[in-house]
Amino acid sequence: MEFRDLKTQYHILKEDIDSAISEAIANTNFISGSPVKELEQQLAEYVGVKHCITCANGTDALILPLMAWGIGMGDAVFVPDFTFFASGEAPALLGATPVFVDIEKDTFNISPMRLEESIKQVLSDGKLKPRVIVAVDLFGQPANYEEIHRIAKKYDLLVLEDGAQGFGGAIGNKKACSFGNVGATSFFPAKPLGCYGDGGAIFTNSDEWAEVIRSLCIHGKGKDKYDNVRIGMNSRLDTIQAAVLKVKLKQFVEYELEQVNENAKEYTNQLQDVVKTPIVLDGYTSNWAQYTIVCKNEKERDNLQKALKEVEIPAMIYYAKGMHEQKAFQNGCVLSGSYENTIYLSRRVLALPMGPYLTEKELSFVVKQIKNLLIGG
Ligand SMILES: *Cc1c(COP(=O)(O)O)cnc(C)c1O
Repeated sequence: MEFRDLKTQYHILKEDIDSAISEAIANTNFISGSPVKELEQQLAEYVGVKHCITCANGTDALILPLMAWGIGMGDAVFVPDFTFFASGEAPALLGATPVFVDIEKDTFNISPMRLEESIKQVLSDGKLKPRVIVAVDLFGQPANYEEIHRIAKKYDLLVLEDGAQGFGGAIGNKKACSFGNVGATSFFPAKPLGCYGDGGAIFTNSDEWAEVIRSLCIHGKGKDKYDNVRIGMNSRLDTIQAAVLKVKLKQFVEYELEQVNENAKEYTNQLQDVVKTPIVLDGYTSNWAQYTIVCKNEKERDNLQKALKEVEIPAMIYYAKGMHEQKAFQNGCVLSGSYENTIYLSRRVLALPMGPYLTEKELSFVVKQIKNLLIGG
């Protein structure tokens, strides 16, 4: 069994994907070919924002807006403690100081209450200037943007939505990647919408930021690539990747998102009496980037992972530790609060095989094995 079945997806889409790739190769516009612009228009329309700027990967999609905002030395950037490393790496790379904030136990997302406490702590310490909140849509469920924006407004901060796992999620009718002042996503192959290599995209309604970010993606270009008005990067989405994504976006919107939600519902129906199953808040939609259960304790979790592995069911630990526990951040981050929820969850979470192509049979087999181990059949 695959943790996320990209092979079946390719098998189903093979004809369209192969011809899209062949066409891109035949046209030989490998950088900034027409599929890139077309994809950006389709993504902006789907997410419901004015501008989409594709780039080389999801990490760059976080770094570029921070660069556009001039974030650097002396700035505090608030990041959930329970997330993929890149959420905190991006501000740190620019010389800013990540301030790690504990999460909520039910949603795995940043705790607005703890966020406000952290901001107050940084202000009273007086060493750093609070600038940005990086809100992560962890495992596919959008963060609590109503509260996050209330706090951002109160303290005059910008919100960067790390929607690397969030694409396709929603709150009401509003789509993920539209919730921040700028939103970022990743097309890493295993993400909900993945390409066949690295890729990313940035979303915003601001004409001014969009223009600066576009320039930063291409060596800080002015009139053209050889007129350079700022220090930038080389961060673009390849034409071939854009061609693949155009095919995959269509299927994602037409049925994959619905299918993955059916699978989540089925997992929850069959597992909720046995183990703590993930919760999606009222009015929220998840894309189920991960389906994460929470075991009673670390030993139960580790035993379960091992037992599943023995019957060739891959189950993954996202994430085994908090950001504040990463060696890379031992010097150069601000700690605030106790991180009790991050610590609780990082020792107990287990992500199960998931995706739109997980079959009923596979799902039942996973459930059966979990029941065997946790309640003896
Ligand atoms: C995957 C991921 C990223 C980074 O995306 P890449 O395309 O791998 O650079 C950033 N943030 C989160 C939350 C992610 O899951």
